[in-house]
Amino acid sequence: MIRFDDVVKRFGDHTVLDDLSFTVDRGEKVTLIGPSGSGKTTILRLLMTLETVTDGVIWVNGRPLSHQYRGDRLVPAKEKHLREVRKSIGMVFQQFNLFPNMNVLQNITEAPIHVLGQSRDEAVARARTLLEMVGLSDRETAHPTQLSGGQQQRVAIARCLAMSPSVMLLDEVTSALDPELVDGVLSVLRDIASSTDITMLIVTHEMRFAREVSDRVMMFDAGRIAEAGPPQQIFEDPAHERTREFLKAVL
Ligand code: ADP
Repeated sequence: MIRFDDVVKRFGDHTVLDDLSFTVDRGEKVTLIGPSGSGKTTILRLLMTLETVTDGVIWVNGRPLSHQYRGDRLVPAKEKHLREVRKSIGMVFQQFNLFPNMNVLQNITEAPIHVLGQSRDEAVARARTLLEMVGLSDRETAHPTQLSGGQQQRVAIARCLAMSPSVMLLDEVTSALDPELVDGVLSVLRDIASSTDITMLIVTHEMRFAREVSDRVMMFDAGRIAEAGPPQQIFEDPAHERTREFLKAVL
């Protein structure tokens, strides 16, 4: 579903991702862990096309994301191509990023109506199902400022799912929340992870959550994968010294 082929990302002369290659299978739930600054968020931002690669190619669902074909040659992708592939990828951010001037229902139906061309009735029906799933059926006319951080994040998750993404990117989605609101959001994500075949890439500092939902954990260090494996192995028997140090610091 996702393939990074020798991806390099530089900001100026700072190499953030250093010749990075990996694949993620369809439906797989993969958690990215590692010290701050090791490149995890940059990977999500590249997949969301919020950044472009310096070198290498990113593939999603068999199609180049970062590039497009001209004849049989790959050239950097143009905006129209990016808009098209972006539709299959959803991202939930640390800071929720809800549209502040729209109520909950409008936040969720906006893109399905205007980007996917769904009818209003269809979009509203789907939004209501999703609101029930995230436990917010009674808040559809509320505006973001009237909701707690945890509720806003659950709306953001529903908004992401409303686009029926095949890939869902979660970037530190509980980091901005008060501690008592974290569990509600993680429990919604646990349900999604266990009940859908959406491919999930998760950047988190919640190690217990990472352990519960992941099929595979990738430990990053300085723009490279230090080690990757099933959660039991990474958390109980890490092979790499950097992983041991990192886990000691965060657990
Ligand atoms: P992580 O998510 O692992 O904390 P990031 O991917 O956010 O790491 O960042 C990796 C490195 O890239 C950091 O050193 C950060 O300062 C740098 N970086 C990220 N985005 C930019 C940018 N837009 N311009 C310059 N440097 C950036």
